[in-house]
Amino acid sequence: MYAEVIVDVAAYPIDRPFDYAVPKKWQSILEPGVRVKVPFGSRKVVGYVTNTKMDSELDPEKIKSIVEIIDLEPVLSKELLALSKWMAADTIAYEIDALQVMLPAAMRAKYEKVMRVRSPELLDESFRAFIGNREQVTLKALQDADLLKETKSYSERGIVQIDTAIQQKTKIKKVRMIHIPDVDRLEVALTETHPNAKKQAELLRWLMKHASQSIEASKILHEANITATVLKALLDKQIIEQSQMEVYRELDAPKMKDSGKPEYLTDEQQVALSAIEQASDRDQQETFLLHGITGSGKTEIYLQAIDHVLKKGKEAIVLVPEISLTPQMTARFKGRFGELVAVLHSGLSSGEKYDEWRRIHRGEVKVAIGARSAVFAPFTNVGLLILDEEHESTYKQEESPRYHARDVAIWRADYHQCPVILGSATPALESYARATKDVYTLLTLTERAKQQALPSVEVVDMREELKTGNRSMFSVALTEAMKERLARKEQIVLLLNKRGFSSFVLCRDCGTVVECPNCDISLTYHRSTESLKCHYCGHEERVPLECPQCESEHIRFFGTGTQKAQEELFKLLPEARVIRMDVDTTNTKGAHERLLHDFGEGKADILLGTQMIAKGLDFPRITLVGVLAADTSLHLADFRAAEKTFQLLTQVSGRAGRDQLPGEVVIQTYDPDHYAIELSKSQEYVPFYELEMDRRRQLGYPPYYYVTVVQFSHEDVLKAADYAHKGTTFLAERLSPNTIIIGPTAAAISRLNNRYRYQCLIKYKQEPALIPILQQLLKHYKMNWAKDGLAMSINREPTAIF
Ligand code: ADP
Ligand code: ZN
Ligand code: ZN
Repeated sequence: MYAEVIVDVAAYPIDRPFDYAVPKKWQSILEPGVRVKVPFGSRKVVGYVTNTKMDSELDPEKIKSIVEIIDLEPVLSKELLALSKWMAADTIAYEIDALQVMLPAAMRAKYEKVMRVRSPELLDESFRAFIGNREQVTLKALQDADLLKETKSYSERGIVQIDTAIQQKTKIKKVRMIHIPDVDRLEVALTETHPNAKKQAELLRWLMKHASQSIEASKILHEANITATVLKALLDKQIIEQSQMEVYRELDAPKMKDSGKPEYLTDEQQVALSAIEQASDRDQQETFLLHGITGSGKTEIYLQAIDHVLKKGKEAIVLVPEISLTPQMTARFKGRFGELVAVLHSGLSSGEKYDEWRRIHRGEVKVAIGARSAVFAPFTNVGLLILDEEHESTYKQEESPRYHARDVAIWRADYHQCPVILGSATPALESYARATKDVYTLLTLTERAKQQALPSVEVVDMREELKTGNRSMFSVALTEAMKERLARKEQIVLLLNKRGFSSFVLCRDCGTVVECPNCDISLTYHRSTESLKCHYCGHEERVPLECPQCESEHIRFFGTGTQKAQEELFKLLPEARVIRMDVDTTNTKGAHERLLHDFGEGKADILLGTQMIAKGLDFPRITLVGVLAADTSLHLADFRAAEKTFQLLTQVSGRAGRDQLPGEVVIQTYDPDHYAIELSKSQEYVPFYELEMDRRRQLGYPPYYYVTVVQFSHEDVLKAADYAHKGTTFLAERLSPNTIIIGPTAAAISRLNNRYRYQCLIKYKQEPALIPILQQLLKHYKMNWAKDGLAMSINREPTAIF
């Protein structure tokens, strides 16, 4: 018997399974989807068994044998193995990358598998003798003792349990506790205290109010308003004592609750839900585009559709963009389905992620919610897949394998013959175009679920503001509107559109912008550390005091970050309580949740932030949304700039007036006549869609054409250009004449991490030979060009083209 094995050797130029012999003793236990160790060259490497067979075309003398079995149960099902094959081909990736992306990171690392006995009385004599009184035995040891077959059979009957011996690295949290004596002792201490030691006396009086208790040191410092030195003085005199105490980690996300299932669905919701349920009952693949304005009750439809498939004994996968994976969102699912929900988000440690993965793998949960990679949730009886905010570009992975979660979801739905729901208020142009051609079934929600009106939108021309002498970031209209809300104790959301915009340092004398020494891109100013950072390679330096070019001192930071906005806001409305949410304030675990929770509790009047606040917020007291600098994202050199701007404005406007109180939106811009801004006033998607489609047709962009970008980078600029030229010629000679090849051209960021970047763009309507030809190019690159230091990547349907 032979096994086809994909080995984990990324550098090897040949991407195909290798045949290995299966030793006789393992023939009955080895299945596709398990990991093994095999000899490769002079090493032993990990590989994935993708198939088993009785014959091999190779010379049996030369075939090596599998040396170790890592898993007894397959970690990848037949479905996921097939999916990885398809995905590798479709995205021109290596099969090993396609396999590994489906597993939690903890399984990619080298963790040992161990066996623990659950019911020792059911083991046979010799097996029990081998285990002895050990609590756990590694699979390797069992293998060496030739007991794998028995182990597998015990494991299938639940007599033993196989686990990964993952180390919980989480540190135990400790706090310093102060033990306060009784009042008498404190009285004595007070009389003995030197009259000049006023602070010590003060502390002693405070302690008397808390006599015979143990209190956290930090709490005493804070509440008694004293310094650590004073506390130490009493410790030194042994009046009080201290100790370290272990505490449990606080639960990360403060609990938020679901408002519960509404009594009735709206007519539109009912129509949409029935269509989905019928597709589910027909056991047919069907992709629905659920286009519903913000607050129209899309999430409610997801919940009820999931309920329907759970009742049929099936499972559901819900994908949301990472930033909208808010506690509010997950609380709604947990509120409805309780313990049946697993949440996979980036805030989990790798051990926690592995635990959630295992709960899915073992069938302990029925609903998986998570960002992009949750689309690979190892369910075996999927009944529904949902992508919320389907237009979000984060659904496309921009590193190998460059898959789009939408395509993977549709593939899995096809395998399981079940429906897919793509939901959005502003669908991707591609998706809406497919819906108009009946590739997807369009379902439309035109009204808000609670019948509230959409907010009124006002566009303010900031050029006019400047003319009338207002140099602030806030227009008169927005300032007035904010004052009204503060007076009425209502809440405000302010969005600073930072897409395509950053704060940089500019010399006012010679115009020099400080750039990264490794990349051709300007450095971003960070006020909190007074430093300049490159967001591409991580380079960091101090803010220069004089211009590196002309040595002028008139070099200063330019642009408007959230910190600057917060400072201006403070000058303008000193009484307002502001929560700022951006990359700087949300980079610690759970910070995002905490800030939102505080805002939801009414601990602030204004939530000021970047696009991360645009989504998912559902707070009843938000009645005003302000957008500062709406047009910055229009100036990206990306053909999707208008679409992304329209999506963002619509999303953020949807945060206002979601409950009883009516909402208002103020959009500030230097470009009020641009159609993306003009049309966001009415918040109507279809007119925007039609205009934008016209433009795409004229320019020959998606969805009228498909595009693929091939990028070449090298440390030597001449070599980069040369290989880009060779690659482009290779493609031009082989692809059909109707296919348009543009380039090679320098990439928008022409140098990154000291590598020069060139690219060529392939545009086509139909190109059946595309995949095989790109695979040939990739193989050619691996065999011949890679060793010369070239890096080449192929990206089908990139999220942005510069
Ligand atoms: P969307 O996902 O389209 O933004 P949601 O599903 O979040 O919309 O619904 C918006 C609000 O309306 C939520 O507070 C939700 O609880 C409520 N809601 C949804 N459907 C109904 C309904 N049929 N009746 C009453 N309230 C509803
Ligand atoms: Zn200068
Ligand atoms: Zn850099």
